[in-house]
Amino acid sequence: MAIMEITVQHNSPIALSDTLSIASGMVRGYLSGIMQALQRSAALSYILDSQLRLMYCNPAWNRFARLNGAPQLTSKAVVGCDLLDALPDSLKALYFDAFRQVLNAGRIWEQSYECSSPTSSRKFRMRIHLLKPQDWFVVTNTLIVERSLRGTATTDPNPYVDANGLVTICAHCRCSLRVLSRDQWDFVTEYISPPRESAVRVSHGLCPVCRAYFYRLY
Ligand SMILES: [Zn+2]
Repeated sequence: MAIMEITVQHNSPIALSDTLSIASGMVRGYLSGIMQALQRSAALSYILDSQLRLMYCNPAWNRFARLNGAPQLTSKAVVGCDLLDALPDSLKALYFDAFRQVLNAGRIWEQSYECSSPTSSRKFRMRIHLLKPQDWFVVTNTLIVERSLRGTATTDPNPYVDANGLVTICAHCRCSLRVLSRDQWDFVTEYISPPRESAVRVSHGLCPVCRAYFYRLY
């Protein structure tokens, strides 16, 4: 999904604080834990109800919208809106089908997509997670880093390798942890490709979103 392509329909917005009270008691604790993880996550994320209405957007989403000159896409304006109404026609069928697949199979749906601006080339990895038993959805969009930052003008030659030469990769979403930022997990293609000669060793862990979603650890 290209965030810049979304146009917003203003129809009965729901206050962010109401999101939890709308959820049934059964799912409220679980949802609250996931929202806590998303509050800190660097992945651009949102939660949809079973009617595909936006119920919550995380701070990373709001920051991205503001940085890209689209304050009308921050949670204040879009919560309560229908996601499909907000998408361009060319993407409606793809997304409708994706959510239907997630609902029917109960499995996570993943896709990479490009979301570049005139000044920067960017790709994201989108994951749609089903939230049972209410059939809500958690959608995360993680930055894809296609090459090591080694050799670029930075004081941190490789932000994913720790002092012991280890890269921590989430066992579920396969994102890699930035060593100096405990909340930033990126989809770094060079560590998830088939093994090749490298001094880097991989250690498996869990990112906060997967900890909350799969294990209810908050
Ligand atoms: Zn993960």
